Order: sequence, then structure tokens, then C-alpha cells
Amino acid sequence: MICVLSGGTGGAKFVDGLRQVMPAEEITLVVNTGDDLLWWGLYVSPDIDSITYVLSGMLSRERGWGVKGDTFLCLQAMGQLGEPTWFHTGDRDLAMHLLRSRLLAEGKTLLEATEVISQKLGVRARVLPMSNSRVETRIQTPNVGELSFEEYFVQRWYQDPVSSVRFAGASDAEPAPGVIDAITSADAVIIAPSNPVTSIGPILAVPSIREALVRAQGKIAAVSPIVGNAPVAGPAGILMQAQGLPCSIAGVAQAYEDFLDILICDTRDARTAETVRKTGLRVQCAQTIMRSADDKAALAREVLNCARPNMTDAARSRSDAEANSFRRLGRQP
Ligand code: GDP
Repeated sequence: MICVLSGGTGGAKFVDGLRQVMPAEEITLVVNTGDDLLWWGLYVSPDIDSITYVLSGMLSRERGWGVKGDTFLCLQAMGQLGEPTWFHTGDRDLAMHLLRSRLLAEGKTLLEATEVISQKLGVRARVLPMSNSRVETRIQTPNVGELSFEEYFVQRWYQDPVSSVRFAGASDAEPAPGVIDAITSADAVIIAPSNPVTSIGPILAVPSIREALVRAQGKIAAVSPIVGNAPVAGPAGILMQAQGLPCSIAGVAQAYEDFLDILICDTRDARTAETVRKTGLRVQCAQTIMRSADDKAALAREVLNCARPNMTDAARSRSDAEANSFRRLGRQP
């Protein structure tokens, strides 16, 4: 079993590669819910949505979020009614939010609602929200006060300077059932190339998750979302600096220093990798920019080879053979 800690964009791209090279049944995802929001009265969990869509083959790869080929008629209609439209939800995407909101209103937990939706969409990996409790990422800005993550990121295009980030509710939250066991018993734990502050940070802020990583039996590998001292996309650099971390692979290593075994960074960072290795951390350089399906599969393979060195060739080829047979059958591994 492999356990992946993930946000919704870099994380979803990485998971898209992973599902090409190993059976989805062997993957458990622990997903950030710090970005969750109530939108038009519906409970939206953007990172769980992206991960669910990528695993069910529904994700729009062009946009990197939402459902491929979706239309936005409801959004237009809500605009005509004078409702806010800055958070874009497609028409088919709305079905996800409607169903989840109904399940939650009926008393299901976020994990239970996620399981129902995963099952209905044929997702064979296990998708776990980091917690059933509400943990909200709050971005403190010097000019407009405190913002939710989506207000900062989507509504205001991450243009505001940031003074600090906090995770409201985290200290009272518990990991969702299955999270701790997935981390401690996995053959390897992979931290996806997700934002270390606002995607992985909220997961680590849930009490006992960090401790579980420290005592995990498998190796822990992180793929850097920072390439050449800049994020591949988005505000990770600004947010890392606000949290006192340099925007570099060294900053990524620092964010995870108490539990990380292997850092996978881009070949462009080979020089900085030399410096980071001096701290005793194993650093592996690879092609980490994921544009095509082949890029994604190659990165996933590389990460698995680093993080699961003890996997026997027989087990590896069995797992590859299964993945191939899924592909041949036209199903998503
Ligand atoms: P969010 O929930 O939308 O913030 O998504 P994530 O946290 O999962 O992903 C955002 C991070 O993904 C950003 O910091 C990007 O730098 C990183 N990212 C996006 N595409 C790539 C890629 O192709 N390669 C790598 N290494 N990082 C990427």
C-alpha cells in the first residue's frame, strides 16, 4: 500500500501518473480540506473534488480543476440573479456539491460522504479527507485583513501580500478514521508536489498526523512543487516566505524535516540538491514538470522506485502487469 498526502492541483497531476503505474486499489490518499467552503449554500471540498475527478477520469486536464467538457450555465444564471460568481462551479461539478451537501445534511461525516461519492464514480483508490472536522486555512494580509484560502486564491488572484497563515480549528480536529493507519502501515508515504503551506500544512496541523509520519514504517518521499526557486504555479513561494521558509527545495525539505527520508527535486535544482544533501537528507533529481501523461507516469515510477526500494522485482512486475491489464481493459488503473 502507498499513502499519498495531497492538495488538488500538483497533487492531482501526480496522482494521474501514479494511477498509470500501479493498481489504484493500492493507493490511499489523505487529502487537504483546509480550502473547503460553503458556496451558494453547498459544501465544496475543492481538493477532494479534484482528486476524485482525476481518479474517475473526469478531471478537466486543461483547467486542472472541475469536470472535463463541463458547461457553466448555472453560474451565468446565478450571476443574473445577483449572486457571487467568483468561484467557478460547472454544471456537472454542481452535482458533486449537491450530493455531498445532502449526505452531510443527512448526518454523514465528510469521510462517509466521500466514500459514497467515490463508490458511485467507480474510484478504486481510497480517498480520505484529512479530518471530518472543519479546519479552515486563514490567510492574514496586512491590507485587507484575514481571508479564507479561496478568497485569497480565487477571488483575489493571490495578489495580496501575506503576513501569516493559520489553520483555524486544527488543534481541536482529529484525523479522519483510517488516516493514521494509512500513514503508519504504508509501504511508502509520498508527499505530492503540493503547496507545503496551504495544502500539506493543514494536513500536518491536524494533531497526531505529524507524529504518525515520524513513526511510519515505510519511507517518506516528497516531490518538490518548487523548481528553480519558484513554484511551478500558484502562490507557494509567497506563502512559504510568510511562514519563514525559503522558496527553494531547501525550504521544502525544511517544511518536512522531522519526517522526510527522500526529497525528489527537479534536475534543474541539481546544484541546490548538493547543498541539501549535506544536511543528511537523501535528494534525488528527476524530471518533475508534468505536462503529458508520459511525464506524469515517469515521475510516478521514479518516486516509487526511490520510496519502495524493498519491493521485490516479482511484486513490482505483478503490480505493473495488473496496471497494464487495467489499461488493456480500458479501465483506469
Ligand atoms: P492546490 O490545492 O490547488 O493548491 O493544489 P496543490 O497544492 O496540490 O498544487 C499546487 C502546487 O503544485 C504548486 O505549488 C505548484 O508549484 C505545484 N505544481 C503544479 N504543477 C506541477 C508540476 O508539473 N510539477 C511540480 N513539481 N509541481 C507542480
